[in-house]
Amino acid sequence: MLEDNFEAVVARINQAKAKANRHDEVHLVGVTKYVDVDQARALVKTGVHEIAENRTELFLEKYQAMQDLEVTWHLIGSLQRRKVKDVINLVDYFHALDSFKLAQEIQKRAEKTISVFVQVNVSGELSKHGFSPEELKPFIEALNAFDRIKVVGLMTMAPIDANEQELRAYFSTLRQYRDQIKSMNLPYAPCQELSMGMSRDYEIAIEAGATYVRIGSDFFKNN
Ligand SMILES: *Cc1c(COP(=O)(O)O)cnc(C)c1O
Repeated sequence: MLEDNFEAVVARINQAKAKANRHDEVHLVGVTKYVDVDQARALVKTGVHEIAENRTELFLEKYQAMQDLEVTWHLIGSLQRRKVKDVINLVDYFHALDSFKLAQEIQKRAEKTISVFVQVNVSGELSKHGFSPEELKPFIEALNAFDRIKVVGLMTMAPIDANEQELRAYFSTLRQYRDQIKSMNLPYAPCQELSMGMSRDYEIAIEAGATYVRIGSDFFKNN
């Protein structure tokens, strides 16, 4: 079942890349928040070598139990400041930098350069985390003071009820912001990556330029 789901996801990713005439890499990040350690391990053995959790407790549990496997670790959920110290030096990528205070705390606790995605609220939904488009550039400029933070890219989550046309608009907007930040040529913000697309919308995200897709339920569904 897991193998079948994995093959279906890979096939759909490749189709979306072909449709968009893309030959660069799209990182497949497996989100294991719904499943236990055994199933997360099975996902790695099936071929997904980048794993994400959205909560620090679940992250630490999986991280500790999977040290014998070769895994790139992602933290994707909003992170409370008081929990930064528990995880920030263990993750390879943090996808949800959404406030100046969180950046301050990361800077304070980091023992190495931390690769982050800055979260952008492209839709303006009140329930969504992330910077508004107007706040984004000043925030990135302010990060100049934080030598432990490297902005590898931008991340967004589309509204649950967005239709295909709206999804395309949100994702291509994020790509435009990414291109703007990238063209600033800031040494601490190369901003080459786009973390966008989940089970329900990753093909559209890939067509719009996603370089990291975060996929959970599509791996673990029962067909
Ligand atoms: C859960 C989660 C995902 C994966 O969602 P699926 O719909 O299960 O693929 C991606 N990104 C974030 C931030 C999540 O919390």
